[in-house]
Amino acid sequence: MRYVSTRGKVDSMPFKDAVMMGLANDGGLLLPEFFPVFSLGEIKDLAKLSYTDLAFKIMSLYCEGLPRQQLKEIIDRSYRTFSHPEITPIVKKDELFILELFHGPTLAFKDLALQFLGNLFEDLVKERRAKMNILGATSGDTGSAAIYGLKNKNGINIFILHPKGKVSPIQKLQMTTVTDPNVFNLAIRGTFDDGQSIVKQVFNDLEFKARHSLASINSINWARLLAQTVYYFYAWGKVYHETSAEEVCFSVPTGNFGDIFAGYIAKQMGLPICQLVIATNENNILTRFVLQGDYSLDTVRETYSPSMDIQVASNFERYLYFVYDQNPEKVRNAMDQLKEKQSISFNPKEIEKISQDFTSVSVNQDETLATIRTFYQKTGYILDPHTAVGIKAGQAAVPQDVPLICLATAHPAKFSQAVNLAIGKDPEKPPCLQGIEKKEERCVEIDAQTEAIKAFVSEHAL
Ligand SMILES: *Cc1c(COP(=O)(O)O)cnc(C)c1O
Repeated sequence: MRYVSTRGKVDSMPFKDAVMMGLANDGGLLLPEFFPVFSLGEIKDLAKLSYTDLAFKIMSLYCEGLPRQQLKEIIDRSYRTFSHPEITPIVKKDELFILELFHGPTLAFKDLALQFLGNLFEDLVKERRAKMNILGATSGDTGSAAIYGLKNKNGINIFILHPKGKVSPIQKLQMTTVTDPNVFNLAIRGTFDDGQSIVKQVFNDLEFKARHSLASINSINWARLLAQTVYYFYAWGKVYHETSAEEVCFSVPTGNFGDIFAGYIAKQMGLPICQLVIATNENNILTRFVLQGDYSLDTVRETYSPSMDIQVASNFERYLYFVYDQNPEKVRNAMDQLKEKQSISFNPKEIEKISQDFTSVSVNQDETLATIRTFYQKTGYILDPHTAVGIKAGQAAVPQDVPLICLATAHPAKFSQAVNLAIGKDPEKPPCLQGIEKKEERCVEIDAQTEAIKAFVSEHAL
């Protein structure tokens, strides 16, 4: 299995090189040449496996060049840090299946991918006797998950940009209280989109990228999506055992189009998904895209679900590649159009295709709090605001007679302010958050400018 760029201007490459490259050197995103397809019978067999065995079965299809034993060992190491024996358990509440993705060390679904990527990077650096400097931008959860995946690893420094004052207090503390010498937290005076755009610009400076052996932990890295594909299969299996339903729907709180794209991959691999719901908050560019073919950038609004306060969804380009029948020239034109006009328009045939792949609902601020409140009153279960967006959207979009699986992307204690507004009390803090306010912090405030970030990285790089 080799990897190609959505912009078609780099030679195809094996898995390890794709992981190291992160953003493709032509500015595009890397994708496998094809998606292997399972039959329904095979999928039912996969449903009998444990999470880590399932992860091995799926991921080994894409990791050619990585010895099987090593892949198995990396997977085991990565999911051992989870506090639940099932890794991603499903709970049933109010006729919904909630896929809890927050049992990792930083309490959000990003841990599923970043524990894996961190261990993979560690092995690759050791094997190549190399060093690595990781640069990433976060809207809150990627940063802490990456830091926990990489702190204290030999030969690796990690630099994380977060938008100053725009992440929740707990999200910030989860990053800044990790004071290992290889971890650098940068609070930028700007938005997440600024951070993401800076990171892309730095990666597009190929000389700088090579000089510092820069690597990416953002969802532009293929390995993250691969790791996330696993839990769609896992969830399907659990629901199949319980209901015998062969078709399910998923609702996915979406910001950067990473998690939902992992669902798209699962569907391409044969998983019977009748609807993939893109759930957005008031930053609804993806909803406008799906419903009207209108992909035009707006300004970012701050919401109760800050990890989704994004306009420029970096993984969107991966999906565009399929909208354009895997034609890199069309992708390049579209991305040029986006740069020039701040928007991409789609013709009726393309809109028709998009609507077969996804549906989408945007959920406003009041609806988010109301969903947390009514769900709590009905079931006693506390939703985090991102999960609430997914549940509200899923209920609006999916017919009642099909099992609906809602991805619970974060533990409510990460967003206790919003939860408190909704139900008048704080969610209980899991052990890993207790006393976090009292820990020492380390963080540097910096302008949201590419040159300032480059200077900082140069100075502190390995
Ligand atoms: C990152 C994140 C999302 C959005 O996921 P994408 O892959 O960026 O679409 C949703 N909820 C939470 C809690 C997150 O951390």
